[in-house]
Amino acid sequence: MKFIRKMKAKDNSIKYLFQSPGKGFVEAIYFNFEGYYGKPKVNSKVICLSSQSGCNMGCVFCETGKIKRVINLSSKEMSYEVNYIQKDLKKQKLPPAKFYAIMGMGEPLNNLEEILKFFHENRSIVEKISISTVGIIPEIKKLIKDKSHDFDFFISLHSPFERERSKLMPINRKYSIKKLISVAKKYSKEKKEKITFTYMLIPNLNDSLKHAKRLAKILNPKYFSVQLTCFNPSGEREIKNARDNFSKKVNFFIMELKNKGIEFDVQLSKGLEIEGGCGQFSAKQKNLNTKST
Ligand code: SF4
Repeated sequence: MKFIRKMKAKDNSIKYLFQSPGKGFVEAIYFNFEGYYGKPKVNSKVICLSSQSGCNMGCVFCETGKIKRVINLSSKEMSYEVNYIQKDLKKQKLPPAKFYAIMGMGEPLNNLEEILKFFHENRSIVEKISISTVGIIPEIKKLIKDKSHDFDFFISLHSPFERERSKLMPINRKYSIKKLISVAKKYSKEKKEKITFTYMLIPNLNDSLKHAKRLAKILNPKYFSVQLTCFNPSGEREIKNARDNFSKKVNFFIMELKNKGIEFDVQLSKGLEIEGGCGQFSAKQKNLNTKST
C-alpha cells in the first residue's frame, strides 16, 4: 500500500488517496463530525476509511460502484490507511481522529473477517469504530451472534419504497427493506443499541413528503434512528443545487421523524470541492492517469 496524494478542503477535511500494489485506488477522508456518533452527541475528528478497492454492489449514485473491480483490503492495509493519516495529522499539528468509520469505498460486510481483525487491532486506539452496510443479511446475522465487537452500526437505506430502492441499490432485489428491517430489529434488541439508517436526499428522486412519511412509518423509534445526509455530486453548480435542495426538502423529513418520535441527525457532506464523495477522488485520479498516458 502506498500514499499517492492528498487534498485539503475549505472545511478542513482532508482527502487521502492510496494505492495498493496492483489493486487500484483506495480513499480515506479526515473530517470534523458533529452529531450522534454512538451516544452522546460528539464534536470530534473522524477518519472515514475504505474496506475494498472498487465495489460490486453497484449503487447507482456512487462513483465507487462504477469501479466494478473489487479487491478486499486486508486489516493490515486498512490499518495502513488510518496510521498514515494519524501520522500526517501529527506532522501538521492537527488533532488526531478519535473515531474510525468504515464507510468509505466498498461494502464492509463483504469483507467481514478482515473487518473484525481491523476492529480488534484498532479498538483500543479510538473511542468508537462504526461500520456502514447496504444490508447483507447473512453477515448481519453473524454480527448479531458475535459478542466480541461494539460497532456503531449504520445501514444505508436511501428509499423507503421497495421498487425504488431496488433501482438505486440492486442489493435490495435480494435483501428487501422488509427483511432488512426485521434483521436490524434483532440486531438492535440483541446489542441493546439503536441502529442508524442513513438516508441521503437525492434531488427530485427520494426527497418528497411522500418519502418522508413512508420513512417515518416503516421505522420503529425504539430500535432505529436516522441520519439524513446531502447528496454529494461532482461540479460546483451541482453541489450548490444539491445543497439548496437539501435545505428545503430536509424539513419534510425532520417534521415526520419528529412526529413519530424517531431520533435523527442532519449531516452536510464534507470536503465537497475536493471530491469528498465515495470514489470521486480516485475517479478523478484515474482520469488524470488516462489523460497522461
Ligand atoms: S455506496 Fe457503498 S456499497 Fe454502494 S456501490 Fe458505493 S461503496 Fe459500494
